[in-house]
Amino acid sequence: MDTSAPITVVGAGPSGLASAIVLARAGKKVVVRESHKSVGARFHGDFQGLENWSVKTDVLDELRDLGIATDFSVHPILSGAAYDADGRKYEVRDEKPLYYLVRRGPGADTLDSALLQAAKEAGAEIRFGDKVERVPPDAIVATGPRRADAIATGYIFETDMADASHVSFDDRLAPWGYAYLLIANGIGTLAVCMFRDFKNHAAHLKEAVAYFERLTGLKMTDPKPFGGYGMLSHMTRVERGGRLLVGERAGLQDALAGFGMRYALVSGALAARAKISGQSYASLLNRRVRSIHRAGIVNRFVFQTLGNKRRGWALSKLSKGAARRGLRRLYGGSFFHSLLYPGVAWRRAARLNHPGCDHIDCDCPWCRMHGVH
Ligand SMILES: Cc1cc2nc3c(=O)[nH]c(=O)nc-3n(C[C@H](O)[C@H](O)[C@H](O)COP(=O)(O)OP(=O)(O)OC[C@H]3O[C@@H](n4cnc5c(N)ncnc54)[C@H](O)[C@@H]3O)c2cc1C
Repeated sequence: MDTSAPITVVGAGPSGLASAIVLARAGKKVVVRESHKSVGARFHGDFQGLENWSVKTDVLDELRDLGIATDFSVHPILSGAAYDADGRKYEVRDEKPLYYLVRRGPGADTLDSALLQAAKEAGAEIRFGDKVERVPPDAIVATGPRRADAIATGYIFETDMADASHVSFDDRLAPWGYAYLLIANGIGTLAVCMFRDFKNHAAHLKEAVAYFERLTGLKMTDPKPFGGYGMLSHMTRVERGGRLLVGERAGLQDALAGFGMRYALVSGALAARAKISGQSYASLLNRRVRSIHRAGIVNRFVFQTLGNKRRGWALSKLSKGAARRGLRRLYGGSFFHSLLYPGVAWRRAARLNHPGCDHIDCDCPWCRMHGVH
């Protein structure tokens, strides 16, 4: 029986709950303090993709290996359609899942609820409605994004359409980002993920709906709007005194596509491992994710530099072989990435992104959530 003081985890998102699960399973006393009344409060039942391409190991095996049970509900995606700015279609496929769809939010069948259940079963104490004003000196800090460098806005709906995965790379629909339509088992998510021009998000979303209607005959029953934001950053100093920063709070998010769940779960588990073993969290994290994270930053720079018209070239290359392998090359930390990274990092020292909104007269998800419109 562990008689030491409990370890505090601030935030019950995927990163904080991953820490709590691993710590509690190792017999540590853990208290997770969450400001909202439930898990997943900033999500709305939308589909998100747990990426499975940045490293060879399947993400579910990686999580199991780190001590996180993967009995949450997933929908593997082995193929999908990608479109360039001229509407040309590229079939992208692999024999292994490119990513796993999971639902996010406080609902019963979401990743968030499954992680909460696992943390409780492992023996962690979860305190809801407990906003932390002063983070204790040896806590794990899992508080998520602090600003909006990218936003997503869209609809969750019911449909009788067949399962599908569509993504369009067209700045007119989603500036510097992508518009996506995901359908699984009669539930759909359609959204635009944008990296600038947040003020016009409603117009972009309208365009995206019309686009997918033309392309797929989209039928949405009972569409419910949703929106959210994410932060792109260089990896921050992840150890501050005794505090360990995990997930998006540590700047861990794929800068190209805004995928942060794998980073959140892995970093949360590694922070717990560091607490248990006394190893350096920064070293564990650097060894595992630094080169992938830097590659994401370079990839975003290249994506923006290529511009709307030339992205088709990259999609065409990706559609010619096993897509998972092609994508892995993009994150492999190649000589090209190491060469470009210092320049890209220097050019974008302050922020990784165009300031997407001036917070004046704006109703983007960030401004709505922070009451500034
Ligand atoms: C619309 C949208 C779509 C996305 N799609 C994808 C996708 O397809 N694939 C992917 O991998 N990623 C996606 N992401 C990103 C992904 O959801 C995040 O990167 C991930 O949730 C980050 O996890 P986290 O634990 O670091 O932070 P969060 O999930 O933000 O959790 C942080 C928690 O800390 C709590 N908290 C904050 N401050 C305090 C405080 N002071 N005291 C107590 N509690 C506090 C918050 O309430 C929250 O519950 C998407 C994000 C959005 C918004």
